[in-house]
Amino acid sequence: MKEDISYALPLVINLVRYFLFAGIPFLIFYILFPTFFKKNKIQTGIAKRKDFIREIMYSVQTTLIIAAVAMTILFTPLMEYTRIYSDLSDYPSWWIPVSILLAIIAHDTYFYWLHRVIHHPSIYKKVHLTHHKSINPSPWASYSFHFFESVLEAMVVPIVLFLIPIHLYSFFIFTIIIFIINVYGHLGYEVAPKWFRRSFLFEVLNTSVHHNLHHSTFTSNFGLYFRFWDRIMGTEHPDYIREYDKIQERRIAKSFE
Ligand SMILES: [Zn+2]
Ligand SMILES: [Zn+2]
Repeated sequence: MKEDISYALPLVINLVRYFLFAGIPFLIFYILFPTFFKKNKIQTGIAKRKDFIREIMYSVQTTLIIAAVAMTILFTPLMEYTRIYSDLSDYPSWWIPVSILLAIIAHDTYFYWLHRVIHHPSIYKKVHLTHHKSINPSPWASYSFHFFESVLEAMVVPIVLFLIPIHLYSFFIFTIIIFIINVYGHLGYEVAPKWFRRSFLFEVLNTSVHHNLHHSTFTSNFGLYFRFWDRIMGTEHPDYIREYDKIQERRIAKSFE
């Protein structure tokens, strides 16, 4: 019997990741330096304490569900059916970043279409409304989902593990990267470097303003990491770039004062 505490690892990792990567930005932007970052604030109001508490409660539930899904795959015979490889030399080293990128693209695609479905009026209230209670989101909102949505969101774990040959370390890095982007999307502040607006990356990557507009308007910007799907499907907010530039101008103007 090889039963040890490694069974609890996905749970511990998920909880630590949430409180660390959502907690530190919250501390910096909402507690320690809100005045310093005022020029970066996307919406003028500030969410209330009760919003933060609700977001944390639901997010903890989501971390438990994601951990449970991961544990169900990693510690049961299902593991045999995944494409996880344990020897790093099984694939060339360039496959590590490529597999992570493929996982991110797969997640973005799954998320976009799932997101479109759960915005359908027939299920929106039951499944997705909880997340949209955060009209002015904070980092704590990153995992703030209703139980049903948490289960659906957690399906990214089997999607990646069953489809993409990936090392567990790469999968771990993937989960860190996507959580950081998720927190950035819910940060409530735009912190992308100013050069970003003029670069090619602006054309393909989402920003905090992009996802913030989804929270404030509900009807557009369904993408998670990339602008691809929103642009292809015509669901990007028509004022997105104008809104981004407005905040960028404010940030530049203030920095010269
Ligand atoms: Zn939504
Ligand atoms: Zn959101």
